Amino acid sequence: MRFDIFTLFPEVCDPYLQTGILQKAQQHGLVEFKTHNIRDWTTDKHHTTDDMPYGGGGGMVMKPDPIFAAIESVLGNPPACPVILMTPQGRQFTHKVALELSQYPQIALLCGRYEGIDERIRQHLITDQISMGDFVLSGGELPALSIVDALTRLIPGALGDPDGPWDDSHASGLLEYPHYTRPPEFRGWKVPDILLSGNHAAINRWRREQSILRTLQQRPDLLQTAPLTTADTKFLTQLKKSKDEEQA
Ligand code: SAH
Repeated sequence: MRFDIFTLFPEVCDPYLQTGILQKAQQHGLVEFKTHNIRDWTTDKHHTTDDMPYGGGGGMVMKPDPIFAAIESVLGNPPACPVILMTPQGRQFTHKVALELSQYPQIALLCGRYEGIDERIRQHLITDQISMGDFVLSGGELPALSIVDALTRLIPGALGDPDGPWDDSHASGLLEYPHYTRPPEFRGWKVPDILLSGNHAAINRWRREQSILRTLQQRPDLLQTAPLTTADTKFLTQLKKSKDEEQA
């Protein structure tokens, strides 16, 4: 899969793309990352990428001409892949959206800065708009990197463990079970005996139950849509019953 990131600050993106799982996935030819500096497509002496808003008010607005020129020269006119704007006004990024986007062989991500971009870019160039959540950041670089990272993890072979991404929180519709590592006892706090038992069937059952318990405690809303087996539902009913008894 190929990712093209259009930004005024490629130097913010590149170190992250060249680290850890993302770097390895690129070295193995599973993904290709290209960052493009929008400023390279300015034609004036001062390389201007932003200007004052029509109608007045504070802040600057990113100009349409360099952004159109950058995206069209890299991706063609019309662009050959989805062009996604990072914006707090977009649809919320989730595992489901990551899965949807991972079906494309190539996506482009446009990072805003300042007050954002000239509206004509959104109207005539952008095909999708994604938000990281109901808060406002100073730029679209962290959202774009979050999308690149989440999608790369889903590509078969990108994680050392082939089941890795599907055990993770949200992929199964639940939150993941708790993890422990050595030492077996730290400051008097012990690792649950079952994890040291070597009984893999029992460990898997414990992990599944912990996953359900944790989801009930932290994100009960997810249980409305999580695919649960009959055994899961039975366990959940027991959990809720003992919770009700505790409260009574
Ligand atoms: N004035 C805009 C916010 C601009 S913030 C508004 O009120 O909608 C500057 C840039 O940061 C945006 O253009 C966008 O690319 C990025 N950004 C900020 N918050 C974001 C979020 N929650 N999700 C995705 N991108 C965001």
